[in-house]
Amino acid sequence: MAHEQTLRESSSFWAQGGLAAAIGPDDSPELHAEDTVAAGRDACRRSAAEALAREAPEVVGELERRGVDFDRDADGNLELALEGGHSRRRVVHAGGAGTGKRITERLAQLAAAETRVHVAEGASALALWSDGARCHGVIADSGPVAARTTVLATGGAAALWARTTNPWGAIGAGAVMANAAGAELADLELCQFHPTALAAPGTDADGLLVTEAVRGEGATLLDASGQRFTDELAPRDAVTLSILERMDQEGRDHVSLDLRGLERERFPNVFEALEGAGFQPERDPVPVAPASHYVMGGVATDLEGRTSLPGLFAVGETACTGLHGANRLASNSLTECFVLGTRAAAAALREPDQGSPPELPKWRFTPPPASTRAAVWRLAGPRRRAEELEALLEDPYPLARLVARFALERRESRGSHRRVEFPGRDPGLDGRHLVCGPDGEPAWHAWG
Ligand SMILES: Cc1cc2nc3c(=O)[nH]c(=O)nc-3n(C[C@H](O)[C@H](O)[C@H](O)COP(=O)(O)OP(=O)(O)OC[C@H]3O[C@@H](n4cnc5c(N)ncnc54)[C@H](O)[C@@H]3O)c2cc1C
Repeated sequence: MAHEQTLRESSSFWAQGGLAAAIGPDDSPELHAEDTVAAGRDACRRSAAEALAREAPEVVGELERRGVDFDRDADGNLELALEGGHSRRRVVHAGGAGTGKRITERLAQLAAAETRVHVAEGASALALWSDGARCHGVIADSGPVAARTTVLATGGAAALWARTTNPWGAIGAGAVMANAAGAELADLELCQFHPTALAAPGTDADGLLVTEAVRGEGATLLDASGQRFTDELAPRDAVTLSILERMDQEGRDHVSLDLRGLERERFPNVFEALEGAGFQPERDPVPVAPASHYVMGGVATDLEGRTSLPGLFAVGETACTGLHGANRLASNSLTECFVLGTRAAAAALREPDQGSPPELPKWRFTPPPASTRAAVWRLAGPRRRAEELEALLEDPYPLARLVARFALERRESRGSHRRVEFPGRDPGLDGRHLVCGPDGEPAWHAWG
């Protein structure tokens, strides 16, 4: 089984809220799809939202069959949490807010026990083995691996922003490698800022996520005078915006999250983590502020994980199916990993054999310098201005430049993307996605 330290480097390990699935008696896949599209601010690929909502209950059942124990109530029914943007209770969780840990530990155990799976723990992918026309495998620091099909699952890029809830490795390596190999990227300007990350500047705990499930159970957001100022259960982009506005009005770098009415037993690890950071959530509200959390964009794929480069698939946060539109609905991403991951695995197995691979390409991935993360947060944060985005076009890291290039191209504010010069939404861009090939020039596409 993988060492816990390896699992801790993934976002999946840290997932707190859970997986969204229409399981409750008052719920349906249609309602789940509608909530997804509404949160995505009319930029979702509807067919992806519908597939996710339809297949989500089955993946929850499959995970249970494979030994993931989701939390159940006294009657033995799955406990369903309420999160922002959901019109029904539909988020299954495990170990309170320890969902990601439970799932990754169990799946790592299963992978270790499967003799046909070779795990190269600790190896890093440095490039895709591509001649620009087809992917033939991957080049890792441990050597090249030829493959009939390659599936990228390298996670997202939210840690490119200095203030983030993500582990440091979430720097979009998969997207950079895919693009260098010839694959298209999409929606790179769409980064979700989570409204409630701990504000403890200068400490390791700065950016620690406080799951939105606590707001579903009654935690409230308070301003400097101790007053509520927003609907805590609105979608993330709306809550983030009202927090930023209140912070501006008060000239402070945070607002407060009041957890005092909550049962500690429901969120033991949230309370423990906050106490570990020096706060006393049972006695005082804790300081929170938005932080980069999830990148909706990534390697453009169809609904089976196929990229534009034959032989290359992408799944999870590194992929962009268009499902999340301009604002991911809470707890839809773990569900997406399993729904789209299952689909991609089946499709990848059907790929034809391509014979012997071409010569190894010369290009290798270089991680961004620390200055890039500071620059991306400063110049392409929750509120964006043309001149700041233009400054980011000079950054040494290709993905930082592409985020700026895409953000300049989207001359509107929608969901998590806010342009100071263009505060309104452009209805002409409903359902449209920015896509670029290896030349880095974004163009608008409509995805059905
Ligand atoms: C704190 C936190 C809480 C969250 N809570 C929830 C939640 O409750 N519900 C929900 O739906 N979503 C949640 N999310 C989002 C969700 O966890 C992620 O979108 C999802 O887990 C991404 O899974 P993944 O497999 O694509 O990537 P990851 O789980 O991040 O895995 C990617 C792996 O690839 C590795 N990797 C990267 N580059 C390379 C390389 N070059 N070579 C080799 N390996 C590489 C990484 O180290 C990592 O181990 C949360 C995210 C965070 C950070």
